[in-house]
Amino acid sequence: MTEAPTPFTPYLSQLSHSFEQLHTAKEDAFWCSYMGLDADVEGARKTLQEREIAVQRWIQSPERLAEVRGKLALAEAARTDPQRAVDRASQMELIALQGWVAALEANSIETAEARSQAEHIVELESELAKARGGMKLGYQGPDGFVPASSVKLGVMLRSEPREELRKAAFHGLRSIETHVLDHGFLELVKQRNRLGRMLGGEDYYDATVRRVEGLTKVQIFEWLDQLEELTRGAAQRGIEQLRQRGDTGLPWNLPYEISGDVTTAEDPYFPFSQALGRWGRSFAALGVDYNGAELVLDLIDRPGKYENGFMHGPVPAWRDSGRYRPARIQFTANAIPGMIGSGRRATETLFHEGGHAAHFANIDMPAPCFAQEFAPTSVAFAEVQSMFFDSLVSDADWQTRYAHTAAGQPMPFDLMQRAIQAKQPYEAWRIRSMLTVPYVERALYEMSDSELTPENVLAVMRQIEEKLTLAPGGGPRPVLSIPHLLAGESSAYYHGYVLAEMGVVQTREFFQQRDGRLVDNPAIGPDLKKVYWTPGNSRRFGEFIETLTGEPFSPEPLGRQVNRTVETTLAEAERSIEHLQDVPVFDGEVDLKANLRVMHGTAIVAGGEGKPFAETSRQFAAWIDERIAENG
Ligand SMILES: [Zn+2]
Repeated sequence: MTEAPTPFTPYLSQLSHSFEQLHTAKEDAFWCSYMGLDADVEGARKTLQEREIAVQRWIQSPERLAEVRGKLALAEAARTDPQRAVDRASQMELIALQGWVAALEANSIETAEARSQAEHIVELESELAKARGGMKLGYQGPDGFVPASSVKLGVMLRSEPREELRKAAFHGLRSIETHVLDHGFLELVKQRNRLGRMLGGEDYYDATVRRVEGLTKVQIFEWLDQLEELTRGAAQRGIEQLRQRGDTGLPWNLPYEISGDVTTAEDPYFPFSQALGRWGRSFAALGVDYNGAELVLDLIDRPGKYENGFMHGPVPAWRDSGRYRPARIQFTANAIPGMIGSGRRATETLFHEGGHAAHFANIDMPAPCFAQEFAPTSVAFAEVQSMFFDSLVSDADWQTRYAHTAAGQPMPFDLMQRAIQAKQPYEAWRIRSMLTVPYVERALYEMSDSELTPENVLAVMRQIEEKLTLAPGGGPRPVLSIPHLLAGESSAYYHGYVLAEMGVVQTREFFQQRDGRLVDNPAIGPDLKKVYWTPGNSRRFGEFIETLTGEPFSPEPLGRQVNRTVETTLAEAERSIEHLQDVPVFDGEVDLKANLRVMHGTAIVAGGEGKPFAETSRQFAAWIDERIAENG
């Protein structure tokens, strides 16, 4: 149904379409450059840079903000004035104007000086990305240097049985730090701080979170400090237990000592080829669909491709004068078929990015500003959607139902028991390991220009890593090797994952208490759609969590979860498996209401317009098995 036009209709339509056009052009260039689709790498990067500047100019324009504020004031005045009934905006148009004011306020830069500073920063980021992309990355093997992506080095830390290779992989990751410190990272930090102060923040971190989350740095770190306290004792007990077992607790051994062994044992229950099918069936059983969206997936690692999974939306979902326009959403992962642990990682990535995609595909608001993934869209809230779904893959009831070998053998309980025994003592440690990133970033942006030397920065990073991860000499994941800190759109951002962990556990607790289960619970999709997804960024993080769960947002549910003993955790897992007999198996046709396509670079691997999901997942499975045969 379309709405009758008002005096505001042409203006709003022009506003929405001009933004959407720039946004789509930029996101398509982003995909092209980050997926390495163009042989002309330099040219692709340059196109992206130009289009990014064009979008930024549009969304940061103070003139546009003044204009939209003026329209909103007119619409609000007309709303109550009987003399001006013909000048009224529709209810949806009023909401659209409010959304545009919020979006422009979160992005607009008032002074010309700050605007040119922002553009200068985009150039510095692009130079740094180029230096990082061109880096000779890998590890020293017994027969010399072996090139490897940061993803591969990370996987080696978790699952490589030979200590000397893990140590080599760890030093490979650390080499990223010295490389970026030598190639302009600190200059970027200084210039970002200058911009942050121009925008009225204490520093870049503070200015960014005010705009993105509508929160101050102080508020965020109050929650993080509480969480740090809630996890301290349990993390120390975990490390103590490790030492008693005779493990070293050294940074290149910790991830392996904690998880390596179980990863290998679990591997047969996560055949890579089944990952896509499990995602589709599980999401369908939860009542999740994609509202007619086009989904493009590029899941396998290859040289020249960006080294971190992400989702982005070149076409935001929105309602154009009452007519719904579905989203186009693309997501990527860096799975390496055949490598131990890669099938599980691929499954988790599909659940994670598929959760993001479900969120953005189900936004139903009267302008595209509500459904784009940048400010004022909360990063932390977006991560609740993705991490809620990837958390299911670790649940005993989900594993019993879905994690079967290629021959159909379900994962036995004693393996889950081993996983819980191996992981639960270190859950608090894992949260603290994540906390290293926001604490390091906060420290970086709080250093003065003269303090920002490579020596100081390395010393501060090691100190924070050591305090939080309790690993001598620094944490297993060198903070500066994490790509988020370098790129503009993901810097001062990582606390979002931690706030999201808190939001996920609070959301899980809510469904668990209300419905008794998460796995194949068909109420979850519709409830998330109604409360978390439909409103887009028209609400703030805490408001969403409280509306669904009925409780204010708090670090305590997560604190409780990571402090559970192994015995309690095992008892809960057993109960959830017993409960499975009352949970109907979803054996209907999987229809995600999506036009799904799996790509490998420019080649189509599976799916396409009108293809049933079952066929797409069969094509995907066959393609993966071929890759494994080639690699093996
Ligand atoms: Zn995510």
